[in-house]
Amino acid sequence: MVVHASYVCPRCHGGMEIGPSGLICPACTITYPVADGIADFSEGHYYDQFDPSSSLTVEHQAGLNHEVEGSRWRIQAYYLPKIETTLRKFALERSRIQILDCGCGNGWSVDLLNDTGLLTWGVDLSQLRRWQWRERKHKGNLAVADARRLPFEDGRFHFILCSGVIEHIGVQEYKLGAYSVKPLENRDAMRTAFLSELLRVLAPGGTLWLDCPNGAFPIDFWHGDRVGQARRHALNEGFLAKTGEIRSYLSAIKTPASLKPRSPHRLFRFQQVGRHWYGRAIRPLMGIYFNLMRVFPFSILAGTGLNPYLVLEISKEADHVHSKEHSTAILLIKQQ
Ligand SMILES: [Zn+2]
Repeated sequence: MVVHASYVCPRCHGGMEIGPSGLICPACTITYPVADGIADFSEGHYYDQFDPSSSLTVEHQAGLNHEVEGSRWRIQAYYLPKIETTLRKFALERSRIQILDCGCGNGWSVDLLNDTGLLTWGVDLSQLRRWQWRERKHKGNLAVADARRLPFEDGRFHFILCSGVIEHIGVQEYKLGAYSVKPLENRDAMRTAFLSELLRVLAPGGTLWLDCPNGAFPIDFWHGDRVGQARRHALNEGFLAKTGEIRSYLSAIKTPASLKPRSPHRLFRFQQVGRHWYGRAIRPLMGIYFNLMRVFPFSILAGTGLNPYLVLEISKEADHVHSKEHSTAILLIKQQ
């Protein structure tokens, strides 16, 4: 049997063998199916339901097309420059770096980053995304997986991107009629388990960028009934995460990590919100505001209720060195 080099079993973290219809974990006696080169570790539990034989609505298709530019922008204008800065600062070898986009959606980020020579993997727990990924160039680096049970060994990734995921964990969402959402009783335990799993696969000294709409800001531009529509919400709604909540989840995890809120400057083009008059009105002001938020003392605002969108830079302490392989490059990252 050939052992698969990229993935481990998400249940037991053991090595897997390549079988005729998928990846086999001999310890758990499970076969994870692989189709079109894409492995599926969901065991049938998806975030969504999508039947490829039924056609998408015109609005849904338009939304997916619209998403592509935003995906490119997120990487090319925001995360790639951050990664490049770290690589240059510590003279890190590009070919040794591994990146995970957890909740990678349409998978464009994985194509874009791999095309720059950065070995990048993406996961999402979605049947729709799995269907979309068949058209990605680097589809072999995309897998269907639960963010709380990742198919990767400890300390694998030097950088992890995770956009708009945490708010969907530990809540029940209702999409029929007006959008509504309710927190589950074990929401905090689920979100802590999710962060703990991300820190497990993050290399010591590596960086996790967690971004999400801010629960401490009363308007949500990302989960309205229509794309880009503003949604007013109560500050105790229990859906969107707040900086303080994420700090408390981190403090409950054994792996030591530090958190720094960052400005979302250049993360968005405000295209979707620009469909509405209020979006067009605030767009230029938001650009100026987010730019200011990059520098002290305005940078203090990045983690507060005065910032509509959180970007939290979470660094895993380098003391937890798992392998020699990672320690050299990563201890350099730590010397900031
Ligand atoms: Zn297993």
